[in-house]
Amino acid sequence: MSRKMRILVVEDEEAIRTGLVDVLVFHGYEVDFAVNGGEGLGKALSGRFDLILLDVMLPGIDGFEICNRIRARDKDQPVMMLTAKSSDEDIVKGLTLGADDYVAKPFSVAQLVLRIQAVLRRSRAGLEQSSRIELGELYIDTRNLSGRRAGQALAFTRREVELLQYLYANGERPVTREELLHKVWGYGRHMQIETRTVDIHIAKLRRKIEIDHKVPRHLITVRGAGYRLVSA
Ligand code: CA
Repeated sequence: MSRKMRILVVEDEEAIRTGLVDVLVFHGYEVDFAVNGGEGLGKALSGRFDLILLDVMLPGIDGFEICNRIRARDKDQPVMMLTAKSSDEDIVKGLTLGADDYVAKPFSVAQLVLRIQAVLRRSRAGLEQSSRIELGELYIDTRNLSGRRAGQALAFTRREVELLQYLYANGERPVTREELLHKVWGYGRHMQIETRTVDIHIAKLRRKIEIDHKVPRHLITVRGAGYRLVSA
């Protein structure tokens, strides 16, 4: 990654705020903070942050209102709410207002860091959904659902392109079939779905994009971990 991810912490309780800032700096993030709602809103709307950690109960403007105002301006800004209690009502309200995730206080630092990493990974994957995929001799235009491999024209279905885009955005990280069903097909996590759907699509894609589909060089199976799309 070329630059540090920037996180804004909006929290009025000094002990919690200081603890959060220290932990995040320790984990390699660039961190700024705000101590009340007004300051938080101003900084949050600056658009400088990769993630905003937002306490609900704040003096002045509360976290819900800040989240609402952020969403009115920017629907893609990652926001994570810190709820004082694990009150379902607060959580539902936060998520309804467009928070990407929430953490209930008191939280474990390890849990919080994992959740932050997940939100940042998802938002990065979204940003990097580029209109073209270039992998050596293989070129795919994701808008036209077309492509080219060593001079030969290729045509794809929308689903095939979405599958390729998702793998491409995740770079070196192998993606499981379950995650693909969830993210590309939109199936709920707990639905019992035949993961063979993914395998069938992968097989069809290999016949299109690989020179020899039995010896894939781009669309790689990582045993026990899923699939990766690599540059050969
Ligand atoms: Ca508070």
